[in-house]
Amino acid sequence: MSAVDAVSDSLKRMRAEFGDLEGGRPADYIPQLGLADPDAFGLALVSMDGHRYSAGEAETPFTLQSVSKPFIYAFVLSVLGLDEVSRWVGAEPSGDAFNAISLEPGTGRPANAMVNAGAIVTTALIPDTPGEPAFERILHCLGRFAGRELDVDEEVFTSESMTGDRNRALAYLIRSTGTLPVDPVLAVDRYFRQCAVRVTALDLATMAATLAYGGVNPVTRERVVSAEVAARVLAVMATCGMYDGSGEWLLRIGLPAKSGVSGGLIAVGPARFGLATYSPPLDATGTSVRGRAALGALSERYGLHLMLNPALPGSTVSLVTTADDLPSAPSAEHERVLHGKVGVVVAQGAIDFTAAERVLYALDESGADRSGSVVLDLHDVTSVDAVALPMLHTGLARLSSDGRRAAVVDPRDLLGPPELVREGTGQDLPRYATREAAVEGCAKALAGEG
Ligand code: GLU
Repeated sequence: MSAVDAVSDSLKRMRAEFGDLEGGRPADYIPQLGLADPDAFGLALVSMDGHRYSAGEAETPFTLQSVSKPFIYAFVLSVLGLDEVSRWVGAEPSGDAFNAISLEPGTGRPANAMVNAGAIVTTALIPDTPGEPAFERILHCLGRFAGRELDVDEEVFTSESMTGDRNRALAYLIRSTGTLPVDPVLAVDRYFRQCAVRVTALDLATMAATLAYGGVNPVTRERVVSAEVAARVLAVMATCGMYDGSGEWLLRIGLPAKSGVSGGLIAVGPARFGLATYSPPLDATGTSVRGRAALGALSERYGLHLMLNPALPGSTVSLVTTADDLPSAPSAEHERVLHGKVGVVVAQGAIDFTAAERVLYALDESGADRSGSVVLDLHDVTSVDAVALPMLHTGLARLSSDGRRAAVVDPRDLLGPPELVREGTGQDLPRYATREAAVEGCAKALAGEG
Protein backbone atom coordinates (compact mmCIF):
# COMPACT_ATOMS: atom_id res chain seq x y z
CA MET A 1 0.00 0.00 0.00
CA SER A 2 1.46 3.32 -1.04
CA ALA A 3 0.95 6.69 0.60
CA VAL A 4 -1.26 8.10 -2.17
CA ASP A 5 -3.71 5.26 -1.70
CA ALA A 6 -5.01 7.53 1.04
CA VAL A 7 -6.70 9.55 -1.72
CA SER A 8 -8.37 6.45 -3.20
CA ASP A 9 -9.30 5.49 0.34
CA SER A 10 -11.28 8.67 0.84
CA LEU A 11 -13.17 7.96 -2.40
CA LYS A 12 -13.78 4.39 -1.25
CA ARG A 13 -15.03 5.71 2.05
CA MET A 14 -17.54 7.94 0.22
CA ARG A 15 -18.67 4.96 -1.78
CA ALA A 16 -19.16 2.86 1.33
CA GLU A 17 -20.90 5.66 3.16
CA PHE A 18 -23.33 6.71 0.42
CA GLY A 19 -23.61 3.52 -1.67
CA ASP A 20 -26.77 2.48 0.13
CA LEU A 21 -28.39 5.90 0.11
CA GLU A 22 -32.00 5.42 -0.88
CA GLY A 23 -34.06 7.77 -2.99
CA GLY A 24 -34.30 8.89 -6.58
CA ARG A 25 -34.56 6.72 -9.64
CA PRO A 26 -32.80 6.47 -13.00
CA ALA A 27 -34.23 8.70 -15.72
CA ASP A 28 -36.50 6.76 -18.06
CA TYR A 29 -37.93 9.46 -20.30
CA ILE A 30 -35.10 8.29 -22.53
CA PRO A 31 -36.14 4.61 -22.30
CA GLN A 32 -32.64 3.20 -22.73
CA LEU A 33 -31.39 5.12 -19.65
CA GLY A 34 -34.01 3.36 -17.52
CA LEU A 35 -32.08 0.10 -18.03
CA ALA A 36 -29.03 1.35 -16.12
CA ASP A 37 -27.93 -0.56 -13.01
CA PRO A 38 -29.19 1.61 -10.13
CA ASP A 39 -26.53 0.19 -7.80
CA ALA A 40 -23.54 1.17 -9.94
CA PHE A 41 -21.62 3.85 -8.09
CA GLY A 42 -18.24 5.06 -9.30
CA LEU A 43 -16.09 7.94 -8.08
CA ALA A 44 -12.93 9.39 -9.61
CA LEU A 45 -10.52 12.24 -9.00
CA VAL A 46 -7.76 13.53 -11.27
CA SER A 47 -5.10 15.84 -9.85
CA MET A 48 -3.26 18.66 -11.58
CA ASP A 49 -0.27 16.34 -11.94
CA GLY A 50 -2.48 13.94 -13.87
CA HIS A 51 -2.68 11.38 -11.07
CA ARG A 52 -5.87 9.35 -11.31
CA TYR A 53 -7.74 7.95 -8.31
CA SER A 54 -10.97 6.00 -8.30
CA ALA A 55 -13.37 3.81 -6.38
CA GLY A 56 -16.26 1.55 -7.34
CA GLU A 57 -17.64 1.48 -10.89
CA ALA A 58 -15.32 4.19 -12.18
CA GLU A 59 -14.76 2.35 -15.46
CA THR A 60 -18.37 1.51 -16.20
CA PRO A 61 -19.48 3.17 -19.44
CA PHE A 62 -22.51 5.48 -19.54
CA THR A 63 -23.57 8.38 -21.74
CA LEU A 64 -22.51 11.98 -21.18
CA GLN A 65 -25.94 13.59 -21.54
CA SER A 66 -25.83 17.12 -20.12
CA VAL A 67 -22.30 16.74 -18.79
CA SER A 68 -21.37 17.29 -22.47
CA LYS A 69 -22.69 20.87 -22.36
CA PRO A 70 -19.79 22.70 -20.68
CA PHE A 71 -17.30 21.01 -23.01
CA ILE A 72 -19.25 21.94 -26.12
CA TYR A 73 -19.58 25.47 -24.79
CA ALA A 74 -15.78 25.48 -24.35
CA PHE A 75 -15.34 24.24 -27.91
CA VAL A 76 -17.67 26.82 -29.46
CA LEU A 77 -16.06 29.63 -27.41
CA SER A 78 -12.69 28.52 -28.80
CA VAL A 79 -13.98 28.45 -32.37
CA LEU A 80 -16.09 31.63 -32.42
CA GLY A 81 -14.99 33.72 -29.42
CA LEU A 82 -17.08 34.97 -26.51
CA ASP A 83 -18.63 37.97 -28.26
CA GLU A 84 -20.00 35.97 -31.17
CA VAL A 85 -21.25 33.13 -28.95
CA SER A 86 -22.92 35.66 -26.65
CA ARG A 87 -24.99 36.94 -29.56
CA TRP A 88 -26.64 33.53 -29.66
CA VAL A 89 -26.74 32.35 -26.07
CA GLY A 90 -26.75 34.21 -22.73
CA ALA A 91 -25.04 33.55 -19.41
CA GLU A 92 -27.81 34.12 -16.89
CA PRO A 93 -29.07 31.39 -14.55
CA SER A 94 -32.55 30.47 -15.74
CA GLY A 95 -33.92 29.29 -12.40
CA ASP A 96 -35.76 26.70 -14.46
CA ALA A 97 -35.48 22.99 -15.11
CA PHE A 98 -33.09 21.63 -17.76
CA ASN A 99 -35.74 21.34 -20.48
CA ALA A 100 -37.61 24.61 -19.84
CA ILE A 101 -38.39 27.14 -22.53
CA SER A 102 -35.83 29.60 -21.16
CA LEU A 103 -35.59 32.16 -23.91
CA GLU A 104 -34.80 35.80 -23.17
CA PRO A 105 -37.78 38.07 -23.85
CA GLY A 106 -37.02 40.35 -26.74
CA THR A 107 -33.94 38.64 -28.17
CA GLY A 108 -35.11 35.02 -27.95
CA ARG A 109 -31.61 33.97 -26.83
CA PRO A 110 -31.56 30.90 -24.57
CA ALA A 111 -30.66 31.87 -21.00
CA ASN A 112 -27.39 29.95 -20.86
CA ALA A 113 -25.50 27.08 -22.46
CA MET A 114 -26.16 24.61 -19.62
CA VAL A 115 -29.93 24.29 -20.18
CA ASN A 116 -31.14 22.28 -23.16
CA ALA A 117 -32.25 25.33 -25.16
CA GLY A 118 -28.81 26.90 -24.91
CA ALA A 119 -26.98 23.63 -25.51
CA ILE A 120 -28.96 22.96 -28.71
CA VAL A 121 -27.82 26.38 -29.94
CA THR A 122 -24.14 26.04 -28.96
CA THR A 123 -23.95 22.64 -30.63
CA ALA A 124 -25.59 24.08 -33.76
CA LEU A 125 -23.07 26.93 -33.88
CA ILE A 126 -20.16 24.59 -34.60
CA PRO A 127 -19.55 24.70 -38.33
CA ASP A 128 -18.58 21.80 -40.58
CA THR A 129 -15.09 22.18 -41.99
CA PRO A 130 -14.10 20.82 -45.44
CA GLY A 131 -12.23 17.91 -43.87
CA GLU A 132 -14.42 17.24 -40.84
CA PRO A 133 -18.19 17.39 -40.33
CA ALA A 134 -19.32 19.27 -37.20
CA PHE A 135 -20.17 16.17 -35.18
CA GLU A 136 -16.78 14.60 -35.86
CA ARG A 137 -15.19 17.80 -34.60
CA ILE A 138 -17.34 17.63 -31.45
CA LEU A 139 -16.44 13.99 -30.82
CA HIS A 140 -12.78 14.71 -31.39
CA CYS A 141 -12.85 17.65 -28.98
CA LEU A 142 -14.61 15.63 -26.27
CA GLY A 143 -11.94 12.95 -26.75
CA ARG A 144 -9.15 15.47 -26.19
CA PHE A 145 -10.78 16.51 -22.93
CA ALA A 146 -11.01 12.85 -21.89
CA GLY A 147 -7.56 11.93 -23.17
CA ARG A 148 -8.81 9.08 -25.33
CA GLU A 149 -10.98 8.46 -28.37
CA LEU A 150 -14.68 8.33 -27.46
CA ASP A 151 -17.64 6.81 -29.30
CA VAL A 152 -21.42 7.09 -29.44
CA ASP A 153 -23.81 4.68 -27.73
CA GLU A 154 -26.10 4.16 -30.73
CA GLU A 155 -28.84 2.57 -28.64
CA VAL A 156 -29.13 5.55 -26.33
CA PHE A 157 -28.96 7.90 -29.31
CA THR A 158 -31.82 6.08 -31.07
CA SER A 159 -33.81 5.88 -27.86
CA GLU A 160 -33.58 9.65 -27.33
CA SER A 161 -34.23 10.40 -31.03
CA MET A 162 -37.45 8.42 -30.88
CA THR A 163 -38.72 10.13 -27.74
CA GLY A 164 -37.10 13.56 -27.80
CA ASP A 165 -40.06 15.59 -29.00
CA ARG A 166 -39.72 18.19 -26.31
CA ASN A 167 -36.18 19.01 -27.40
CA ARG A 168 -37.34 19.05 -31.03
CA ALA A 169 -40.14 21.45 -30.07
CA LEU A 170 -37.62 23.62 -28.23
CA ALA A 171 -35.42 23.73 -31.32
CA TYR A 172 -38.33 24.83 -33.53
CA LEU A 173 -39.27 27.50 -31.02
CA ILE A 174 -35.70 28.80 -30.90
CA ARG A 175 -35.56 28.74 -34.69
CA SER A 176 -38.72 30.85 -34.80
CA THR A 177 -37.01 33.58 -32.72
CA GLY A 178 -34.08 33.65 -35.14
CA THR A 179 -31.46 32.32 -32.73
CA LEU A 180 -30.82 28.90 -34.24
CA PRO A 181 -28.33 29.01 -37.10
CA VAL A 182 -29.22 25.61 -38.62
CA ASP A 183 -32.25 23.45 -39.38
CA PRO A 184 -33.93 22.33 -36.10
CA VAL A 185 -33.98 18.64 -37.07
CA LEU A 186 -30.27 18.70 -37.81
CA ALA A 187 -29.49 20.67 -34.62
CA VAL A 188 -31.36 18.24 -32.39
CA ASP A 189 -29.92 15.19 -34.10
CA ARG A 190 -26.41 16.50 -33.44
CA TYR A 191 -27.32 17.41 -29.86
CA PHE A 192 -28.73 13.91 -29.16
CA ARG A 193 -25.53 12.38 -30.56
CA GLN A 194 -23.41 14.55 -28.33
CA CYS A 195 -25.51 13.49 -25.32
CA ALA A 196 -25.01 9.83 -26.28
CA VAL A 197 -21.20 9.95 -26.27
CA ARG A 198 -19.96 7.18 -24.02
CA VAL A 199 -17.62 7.86 -21.07
CA THR A 200 -16.64 6.50 -17.65
CA ALA A 201 -16.34 8.33 -14.32
CA LEU A 202 -12.56 8.32 -14.81
CA ASP A 203 -13.00 10.00 -18.21
CA LEU A 204 -15.27 12.59 -16.63
CA ALA A 205 -12.80 13.33 -13.86
CA THR A 206 -10.09 13.85 -16.51
CA MET A 207 -12.40 16.14 -18.48
CA ALA A 208 -13.20 18.11 -15.33
CA ALA A 209 -9.51 18.25 -14.43
CA THR A 210 -8.77 19.73 -17.87
CA LEU A 211 -11.08 22.65 -17.06
CA ALA A 212 -9.48 22.91 -13.61
CA TYR A 213 -6.01 22.99 -15.16
CA GLY A 214 -6.71 26.01 -17.36
CA GLY A 215 -7.65 24.00 -20.46
CA VAL A 216 -4.67 21.61 -20.46
CA ASN A 217 -5.44 17.92 -20.02
CA PRO A 218 -3.23 17.06 -17.03
CA VAL A 219 -2.96 13.40 -18.06
CA THR A 220 -1.97 13.84 -21.74
CA ARG A 221 -0.49 17.35 -21.16
CA GLU A 222 -2.30 18.46 -24.33
CA ARG A 223 -3.82 21.96 -24.43
CA VAL A 224 -7.47 21.52 -25.38
CA VAL A 225 -8.79 25.08 -24.91
CA SER A 226 -7.24 28.33 -23.69
CA ALA A 227 -7.08 29.24 -20.00
CA GLU A 228 -9.53 32.11 -20.66
CA VAL A 229 -12.07 29.76 -22.23
CA ALA A 230 -11.73 27.27 -19.36
CA ALA A 231 -12.29 30.08 -16.83
CA ARG A 232 -15.44 31.27 -18.62
CA VAL A 233 -16.87 27.78 -18.82
CA LEU A 234 -16.29 27.33 -15.08
CA ALA A 235 -18.07 30.62 -14.43
CA VAL A 236 -21.16 29.45 -16.29
CA MET A 237 -20.99 26.02 -14.62
CA ALA A 238 -20.86 27.71 -11.22
CA THR A 239 -23.92 29.85 -11.87
CA CYS A 240 -25.99 27.62 -14.18
CA GLY A 241 -24.53 24.09 -14.18
CA MET A 242 -27.03 22.62 -11.75
CA TYR A 243 -30.11 24.20 -13.39
CA ASP A 244 -32.65 25.49 -10.86
CA GLY A 245 -30.53 23.99 -8.06
CA SER A 246 -27.42 26.03 -9.00
CA GLY A 247 -27.64 28.62 -6.22
CA GLU A 248 -28.15 26.02 -3.51
CA TRP A 249 -25.31 23.92 -4.95
CA LEU A 250 -22.89 26.86 -4.95
CA LEU A 251 -24.00 27.78 -1.45
CA ARG A 252 -23.48 24.33 0.03
CA ILE A 253 -20.92 22.54 -2.11
CA GLY A 254 -19.23 25.54 -3.67
CA LEU A 255 -17.70 23.99 -6.79
CA PRO A 256 -18.50 24.60 -10.48
CA ALA A 257 -20.40 21.47 -11.47
CA LYS A 258 -22.52 19.81 -14.14
CA SER A 259 -25.02 17.03 -13.80
CA GLY A 260 -26.40 14.71 -16.47
CA VAL A 261 -29.55 12.57 -16.57
CA SER A 262 -27.63 9.32 -17.05
CA GLY A 263 -26.23 9.79 -13.51
CA GLY A 264 -22.89 11.43 -14.27
CA LEU A 265 -21.80 14.43 -12.25
CA ILE A 266 -18.62 16.51 -12.39
CA ALA A 267 -17.23 19.11 -10.01
CA VAL A 268 -14.17 21.24 -10.61
CA GLY A 269 -11.71 22.61 -8.05
CA PRO A 270 -9.97 25.29 -10.14
CA ALA A 271 -6.20 24.69 -10.17
CA ARG A 272 -6.75 21.78 -7.80
CA PHE A 273 -8.64 18.75 -9.17
CA GLY A 274 -11.39 17.32 -11.31
CA LEU A 275 -13.95 15.11 -9.57
CA ALA A 276 -16.63 12.88 -11.06
CA THR A 277 -19.25 10.47 -9.86
CA TYR A 278 -21.56 8.03 -11.60
CA SER A 279 -24.75 6.77 -9.98
CA PRO A 280 -27.99 6.64 -12.02
CA PRO A 281 -30.79 7.33 -9.48
CA LEU A 282 -31.71 11.03 -9.79
CA ASP A 283 -33.46 13.53 -7.56
CA ALA A 284 -36.15 15.98 -8.71
CA THR A 285 -33.59 18.42 -10.16
CA GLY A 286 -32.10 15.68 -12.36
CA THR A 287 -29.00 15.26 -10.19
CA SER A 288 -27.56 11.96 -9.05
CA VAL A 289 -28.65 11.42 -5.44
CA ARG A 290 -25.49 9.58 -4.37
CA GLY A 291 -23.26 11.81 -6.45
CA ARG A 292 -24.65 14.89 -4.74
CA ALA A 293 -24.25 13.34 -1.29
CA ALA A 294 -20.69 12.19 -1.94
CA LEU A 295 -19.52 15.48 -3.47
CA GLY A 296 -21.23 17.41 -0.66
CA ALA A 297 -19.42 15.33 1.97
CA LEU A 298 -16.08 15.61 0.17
CA SER A 299 -16.45 19.37 -0.11
CA GLU A 300 -17.30 19.75 3.55
CA ARG A 301 -14.73 17.36 4.97
CA TYR A 302 -11.84 18.51 2.82
CA GLY A 303 -12.72 22.21 2.79
CA LEU A 304 -13.14 22.32 -1.01
CA HIS A 305 -15.68 25.18 -1.20
CA LEU A 306 -14.41 27.66 -3.77
CA MET A 307 -15.09 30.67 -1.59
CA LEU A 308 -13.42 29.09 1.41
CA ASN A 309 -10.00 30.69 1.22
CA PRO A 310 -8.76 31.32 4.69
CA ALA A 311 -5.89 33.81 4.61
CA LEU A 312 -2.90 31.94 3.32
CA PRO A 313 0.24 32.16 5.41
CA GLY A 314 2.75 34.61 3.99
CA SER A 315 4.87 31.89 2.50
CA THR A 316 6.12 33.87 -0.50
CA VAL A 317 8.63 35.91 1.42
CA SER A 318 10.74 33.63 3.53
CA LEU A 319 13.07 36.24 5.00
CA VAL A 320 13.21 40.01 5.41
CA THR A 321 16.34 41.11 7.14
CA THR A 322 19.39 43.29 6.98
CA ALA A 323 22.58 41.75 5.74
CA ASP A 324 24.38 41.99 9.08
CA ASP A 325 21.96 39.44 10.46
CA LEU A 326 23.01 36.90 7.90
CA PRO A 327 25.33 34.18 9.15
CA SER A 328 27.86 34.95 6.45
CA ALA A 329 28.24 38.60 7.44
CA PRO A 330 31.88 39.50 8.03
CA SER A 331 32.93 40.75 11.38
CA ALA A 332 34.97 43.93 10.78
CA GLU A 333 33.16 46.85 12.41
CA HIS A 334 32.98 49.15 9.38
CA GLU A 335 31.74 46.30 7.21
CA ARG A 336 29.06 45.46 9.73
CA VAL A 337 27.86 49.05 9.59
CA LEU A 338 27.68 48.91 5.84
CA HIS A 339 25.99 45.54 5.80
CA GLY A 340 23.42 46.87 8.25
CA LYS A 341 22.31 49.25 5.55
CA VAL A 342 21.64 46.49 3.05
CA GLY A 343 18.14 45.08 3.29
CA VAL A 344 17.58 41.51 2.11
CA VAL A 345 14.28 40.06 0.92
CA VAL A 346 14.24 36.35 0.14
CA ALA A 347 11.29 35.11 -1.93
CA GLN A 348 10.33 31.56 -2.77
CA GLY A 349 7.91 29.49 -4.82
CA ALA A 350 5.76 30.64 -7.73
CA ILE A 351 5.23 34.39 -7.94
CA ASP A 352 1.80 35.51 -9.12
CA PHE A 353 -0.16 38.70 -8.43
CA THR A 354 -0.74 37.93 -4.75
CA ALA A 355 2.83 36.81 -4.16
CA ALA A 356 4.26 39.81 -6.05
CA GLU A 357 2.34 42.16 -3.76
CA ARG A 358 3.95 40.48 -0.77
CA VAL A 359 7.42 40.77 -2.26
CA LEU A 360 6.95 44.46 -3.11
CA TYR A 361 5.64 45.20 0.37
CA ALA A 362 8.63 43.42 1.90
CA LEU A 363 11.03 45.39 -0.32
CA ASP A 364 9.54 48.65 0.95
CA GLU A 365 9.82 47.52 4.54
CA SER A 366 13.33 46.15 4.23
CA GLY A 367 16.59 47.67 5.34
CA ALA A 368 17.41 50.02 8.17
CA ASP A 369 15.09 53.06 8.12
CA ARG A 370 13.64 51.82 4.86
CA SER A 371 16.58 53.37 3.07
CA GLY A 372 19.90 52.21 1.70
CA SER A 373 20.31 49.24 -0.59
CA VAL A 374 18.15 46.22 -0.92
CA VAL A 375 18.83 42.77 -2.29
CA LEU A 376 15.97 40.76 -3.73
CA ASP A 377 16.94 37.11 -3.64
CA LEU A 378 15.01 35.02 -6.17
CA HIS A 379 17.19 31.93 -5.84
CA ASP A 380 14.31 29.81 -4.48
CA VAL A 381 11.64 31.25 -6.76
CA THR A 382 10.33 28.66 -9.21
CA SER A 383 8.47 30.99 -11.60
CA VAL A 384 7.31 34.56 -12.10
CA ASP A 385 4.07 34.77 -14.08
CA ALA A 386 3.13 37.30 -16.74
CA VAL A 387 1.22 39.46 -14.26
CA ALA A 388 3.89 39.42 -11.56
CA LEU A 389 6.81 40.21 -13.89
CA PRO A 390 5.83 43.81 -14.75
CA MET A 391 4.81 44.33 -11.10
CA LEU A 392 8.32 43.40 -9.95
CA HIS A 393 9.90 45.54 -12.68
CA THR A 394 7.81 48.56 -11.69
CA GLY A 395 8.43 48.00 -7.98
CA LEU A 396 12.20 47.83 -8.51
CA ALA A 397 12.03 50.96 -10.68
CA ARG A 398 10.17 52.80 -7.89
CA LEU A 399 12.82 51.80 -5.36
CA SER A 400 15.54 53.39 -7.43
CA SER A 401 13.48 56.52 -8.05
CA ASP A 402 13.19 56.74 -4.25
CA GLY A 403 16.97 56.80 -4.13
CA ARG A 404 17.44 53.21 -3.03
CA ARG A 405 19.84 50.91 -4.75
CA ALA A 406 18.44 47.52 -5.65
CA ALA A 407 20.24 44.36 -6.66
CA VAL A 408 18.87 40.94 -7.47
CA VAL A 409 19.98 37.39 -7.05
CA ASP A 410 18.45 35.86 -10.15
CA PRO A 411 20.54 32.92 -11.32
CA ARG A 412 17.86 31.70 -13.74
CA ASP A 413 17.00 35.10 -15.23
CA LEU A 414 13.41 34.92 -14.00
CA LEU A 415 13.16 38.70 -14.32
CA GLY A 416 13.96 38.33 -18.01
CA PRO A 417 17.06 39.04 -20.10
CA PRO A 418 19.00 42.24 -19.24
CA GLU A 419 17.34 44.25 -22.07
CA LEU A 420 13.87 43.43 -20.75
CA VAL A 421 14.89 44.30 -17.20
CA ARG A 422 16.36 47.59 -18.42
CA GLU A 423 13.14 48.37 -20.25
CA GLY A 424 10.97 47.41 -17.27
CA THR A 425 12.98 49.03 -14.50
CA GLY A 426 14.65 51.85 -16.40
CA GLN A 427 18.09 50.75 -15.17
CA ASP A 428 20.76 48.12 -15.43
CA LEU A 429 19.82 46.24 -12.31
CA PRO A 430 22.89 44.63 -10.77
CA ARG A 431 22.47 40.86 -10.78
CA TYR A 432 24.39 38.35 -8.76
CA ALA A 433 24.60 34.60 -8.61
CA THR A 434 24.54 34.41 -4.80
CA ARG A 435 23.14 36.42 -1.93
CA GLU A 436 26.60 36.88 -0.41
CA ALA A 437 27.93 38.39 -3.63
CA ALA A 438 24.90 40.69 -3.89
CA VAL A 439 25.30 41.96 -0.32
CA GLU A 440 29.02 42.46 -0.85
CA GLY A 441 28.31 44.37 -4.08
CA CYS A 442 25.78 46.61 -2.35
CA ALA A 443 28.07 47.25 0.63
CA LYS A 444 30.89 48.20 -1.70
CA ALA A 445 28.60 50.54 -3.59
CA LEU A 446 27.55 52.17 -0.32
CA ALA A 447 31.23 52.61 0.60
CA GLY A 448 31.68 54.32 -2.71
CA GLU A 449 33.80 51.53 -4.16
CA GLY A 450 31.17 49.94 -6.34
N1 GLU B 1 -30.21 14.42 -23.44
C1 GLU B 1 -30.86 14.94 -22.28
C2 GLU B 1 -32.01 15.84 -22.70
O1 GLU B 1 -31.81 16.70 -23.48
C3 GLU B 1 -29.88 15.67 -21.41
C4 GLU B 1 -30.52 16.29 -20.18
C5 GLU B 1 -29.63 16.23 -18.97
O2 GLU B 1 -28.71 15.42 -18.91
O3 GLU B 1 -29.86 17.02 -18.02
O4 GLU B 1 -33.12 15.68 -22.28
